[in-house]
Amino acid sequence: MIFKDRVSLVTGASQGIGEAIAEELGREGATVVLVDIQKDKLEQVAARLAGLGIKALPYEADVTDSARAAQVVDEVVGSLGRLDHLVNNAGITRDSLLLRMKEEDWDLVLRVNLKGAFNFSRAALKPMFSARYGRIVNIASVVGLMGNFGQTNYAASKAGLIGLAKSLAREVAARGITVNCVAPGYIATPMTEKLPEEVKKGFLDIIPMKRFGLPEEVARAVKFLCSEEAAYITGQVINVNGGMYM
Ligand code: NDP
Repeated sequence: MIFKDRVSLVTGASQGIGEAIAEELGREGATVVLVDIQKDKLEQVAARLAGLGIKALPYEADVTDSARAAQVVDEVVGSLGRLDHLVNNAGITRDSLLLRMKEEDWDLVLRVNLKGAFNFSRAALKPMFSARYGRIVNIASVVGLMGNFGQTNYAASKAGLIGLAKSLAREVAARGITVNCVAPGYIATPMTEKLPEEVKKGFLDIIPMKRFGLPEEVARAVKFLCSEEAAYITGQVINVNGGMYM
C-alpha cells in the first residue's frame, strides 16, 4: 500500500481512464477524490470503489469552472487535511477538419482539456506548497506529440498540457512538487468506442503491438509517477502507446 494516508484527486473519474486511475491509486491505499460532470455515474463509481475497500469521495464539478475547482480543493483539504496527487484527466473531443471547425468546438476542447488542468493545478498548488510535497500528472495524448487528421483542437490542447507541465515543473520543482504527463496512445474506453470501425482499423495498422491499450495500463504509469520511485522525475512525458509513436 504505497499511498496509505495520501489523498489523490482525479478529474474525469466517472469512466474510462480516469476511473481506472482512481482505482489504481485507491488500491494502493490513497483516499480518492473523484471529480466529474456525470453525477450519477460518479456516484456509481464511488460505490463500486467502496466495494473494493477504497475510500472514494465523489465531487460533481465542471473542470472549466475555476471557482468550483478552488471550492472542491478547499473542501477536500478542509475535510481530509491534505492533497498529495492531482491527475488532470478530464478530456473531450470535437473532431472536424480545421476548415470546417466551429469556433465553439475549438473553444470547448481547449477549455475542458487545457484550462481545466490550469484550474485544478492552480487550486491544488496551495496545499501542495504548504506541504512542500505534491505530484501533478496531466493526461496528454500521443496526438499532442504527432498530430492527427481532424483533431487540430484536441492535439493543440494535448500539446498545451505538455507545455504546461514542463513550465510548471520548473516553477515548483524546488518545493518538492513534480509535474509530468502520461501520453496514452489508443486506449479502449467510451471515448474511442464511438469511432467508426475503419478509423479503429487504421489505428491498429500503425500500432506495432497490434492491440489497443487498456485503461489500467495508463493507470499504472500514473501510479509510478505518483510514487516515491519517481521522486526525481519531473517535466517528462511517459508514452503508453504500444509503440505507435516512438
Ligand atoms: P472518457 O470520455 O471515457 O472519460 C472522460 C470523462 O471526463 C467523462 O466522464 C467525461 O464526461 C468527463 N468530462 C468531460 N468534460 C468534463 C468537464 N468539463 N468536467 C469534468 N469532467 C468532464 O475519456 P477517456 O477515459 O478515454 O479519456 C480520459 C483522458 O485520456 C482524456 O483526457 C483523453 O483525452 C485522454 N486520452 C484518451 C485516449 C483514448 O484512447 N481513450 C488516448 C489519449 C488520451 P462526459 O462523458 O459527460 O463528457
